[in-house]
Amino acid sequence: MSIESLARPEILAMKPYSSARREAPAHGVLLNANESPKSLLEETGLTAGLNRYPEPQPTELLRRLAALYAVPEEELLVTRGSDEGIDLLTRVFCRAGQDAVMYCPPTFGMYRIAAQAQGAGIVTVPRSPENGFRMDEAAVLAGLKANPAVRLVFLTSPNNPTGDLVTGGFLRELLDTARERALVVLDEAYVEFCSSESAASLVASNENLVVLRTLSKAWASAGLRCGTVIAQPSIISLLQRVIAPYPLAGPVISLALRVLQPDMMERQGELLAELRRNKSRLLEILESRPFVRQVLPGEANFVLIRAERAAELLAHCARRDVVLRGFPADATLRDWLRITVGSSDEISALASALDDWEGGS
Ligand code: PMP
Repeated sequence: MSIESLARPEILAMKPYSSARREAPAHGVLLNANESPKSLLEETGLTAGLNRYPEPQPTELLRRLAALYAVPEEELLVTRGSDEGIDLLTRVFCRAGQDAVMYCPPTFGMYRIAAQAQGAGIVTVPRSPENGFRMDEAAVLAGLKANPAVRLVFLTSPNNPTGDLVTGGFLRELLDTARERALVVLDEAYVEFCSSESAASLVASNENLVVLRTLSKAWASAGLRCGTVIAQPSIISLLQRVIAPYPLAGPVISLALRVLQPDMMERQGELLAELRRNKSRLLEILESRPFVRQVLPGEANFVLIRAERAAELLAHCARRDVVLRGFPADATLRDWLRITVGSSDEISALASALDDWEGGS
């Protein structure tokens, strides 16, 4: 059975849109895309080429990302953040009212939004605070076997907001169980912060594995909106059928290329080391507070804490201009707050807000 048979029949039957920039290379006298012959910003030197459509999948950026993630270019699709990758996968593989996605809450919220927007079913395997929010691996396997409608299983490693990892052993077991039935989508948005390797190298030998990477977190470029789907070419070409013709804006492509220049590798290494030091300090600060009942350090650039009167503490910090993430709408996480590892000054601002809280409460 081919992976195509898991895709929606409507997608397989589609004739993909072919953009001007896909049909012909962008040199010569370009009269094929209804563009302006010049940019209004030409003289500023800021954004040369703004009058032209960008490359749909920029050649040079693909080359750099393939080197960065150590996979062949044919396994890549560059997207407007991982958010777009999640949306494309859901639209391609889930028929409204028939197919379903599976994930383990608490986790990243966009798996649910993408499924709901597509009219797909949702099968959840909840994590429980009693065992540190660890994923219930046996229940994921059992849930997949019991629900033939599941087409996509979203796993997150490290998970947001609990920070725990998917083990290699479990990933392999799940890939086996899901083979010819569902895709396993491993969202590695925070993998650069953690102690384990990316699973991207497993894509070549697993046609039902999809790995999501992004420049938003460890590459300090959330404003770029640049994510990458890593999967076998058969899946990439299915996603190509529904992606917007020009998903990345020209200035975004230029800046992404700049971020990925060799000199930035060193800076990125320094930034990661700085954030590791800051995280240790943040953890010390949190662990010394009596009103912090539990600290889950996790493996990413954030920590999750259970605090007394969490909602009031969140509001207190906000009044001090220190913005944390609360989860008022989520019954499981009502007492918990997620805190991103910021700069040294930002951590000091948080520490001082916590001092006030302790003094005043
Ligand atoms: N996956 C996870 C697990 C996330 O936490 C986030 C952002 N919070 C994303 C994906 C979205 O990444 P991007 O900025 O690349 O869309």
